[in-house]
Amino acid sequence: MILCHILGAGGATPLPGHSPAAYHMEVDGDPILLDPGPGALVRLVAAGRAPGGVDDVAHLLLSHLHPDHCLDLVTILFAAHSPLPACTDPLLITGPPGLRYLLERFTGIWGSSLEPRRRELQVREVVAGEAFDLPGGGRVEGFAVDHPQDRMAEVCLGYRFLDGEGRSLVYSGDTGPCPGLTRAAAGCDLLVVECSTTDELATPGHMTPTGVGELCAAAAPGRVALTHQYPPAAELDLRPLVGRHTEIPVIQARDGTVLSVPAPEGEPTP
Ligand SMILES: [Zn+2]
Repeated sequence: MILCHILGAGGATPLPGHSPAAYHMEVDGDPILLDPGPGALVRLVAAGRAPGGVDDVAHLLLSHLHPDHCLDLVTILFAAHSPLPACTDPLLITGPPGLRYLLERFTGIWGSSLEPRRRELQVREVVAGEAFDLPGGGRVEGFAVDHPQDRMAEVCLGYRFLDGEGRSLVYSGDTGPCPGLTRAAAGCDLLVVECSTTDELATPGHMTPTGVGELCAAAAPGRVALTHQYPPAAELDLRPLVGRHTEIPVIQARDGTVLSVPAPEGEPTP
């Protein structure tokens, strides 16, 4: 089973109900904090997903290194440096090439105050096409997407999450339409895809309702959930715009939207 609790359905310019990126994933019970953008730890705790605070953060997974997807690394590492947390389990950070560079730069500013006090920090860089297994039997596969990014990394990733039964949730990260995303999303049970902007304000490296609709027509996921909505996209009902191109259920996420694979009785719900 795969759960995706959307803690941030917005982008870098937040609106009420659309905070910067943050997703609490569970794949066969293994928790992953995906794309910890600004405020991710606060929202994780407020959502009741981490009653033990930072002690409940075991695995951080980054799609790319733009601040709206990774800035709370600093918050989380500083919290883990505090004398208060008791957890002694390793803290794993997985992300694209450039992750180590980013962490070195953070450490260059804040020094040892970003070293977890009781936990071993494990850093793993993955490249497109690389997969890793989760302790509970799930699996995560990285794939390259099309998103311009200066300096920090050569590649931005999306991820395909698979549970032990072979069910799949595909997360686009930030991307424009690209063949790699279509291939990764093909036949998945649930596609969680960015829909940053409107057709009228189409921006390279990002998706629009028409782009998402055409992607769904080509890849035929079971359901699609729209996330990473900037204004004005976040203020519109995007579902009929996507629905012009596809008949699958369309969910327009807000902060707090919970998605699951398989879908619970009664889905789709906006
Ligand atoms: Zn972004």
